[in-house]
Amino acid sequence: MSHLRGTVTADPPIQRVHLTAAAHAVIGRECGRSQDGNETGGILLGHLHDGVAEVRVAGRPGPAAVRQPAFFLRDLGHAQQLAHDAFTHDGSIWVGEWHTHLAAAPVPSERDLATYARLLADPDLGFETIVAIIAVANPEWDRPAAYAWTCFGNQAVAVPLILTTDDQCPTSTEDRR
Ligand SMILES: [Zn+2]
Repeated sequence: MSHLRGTVTADPPIQRVHLTAAAHAVIGRECGRSQDGNETGGILLGHLHDGVAEVRVAGRPGPAAVRQPAFFLRDLGHAQQLAHDAFTHDGSIWVGEWHTHLAAAPVPSERDLATYARLLADPDLGFETIVAIIAVANPEWDRPAAYAWTCFGNQAVAVPLILTTDDQCPTSTEDRR
């Protein structure tokens, strides 16, 4: 697996990704949907501080998500409502996205990078980096393996994904839709 996409010209804004048990549980359960042969995923919400992305909430795809064998795009309306709810709850902001890969390695695809580049270029969204988590079957979807990336400029750099206990993030919520 390549741990780098693009040419590194700057230090990554994020050095590691922390994932709460609640967010991890949503991803773990939702991954099973990929047994139908299509990618699935959702947005990630939390906080960025001191080079760490604290992911507190992982979203589900939403009813208008685009789910294809080699592409996923979350339902924007669903994502915006989830982001509103999470911000109201504990100030969590939209930090990135997660999705499954069925045949490809857990590395952002060219289409993934194009999606992230559009988000990074949108001044209304104000992203400095997009945190991407890509999950693959290991070997089945009841035991997925997840990999974290920080995407900025035209680059994607692999970073450690660390599971945290909920008492480190006592206010975590989850997407129950
Ligand atoms: Zn992808």
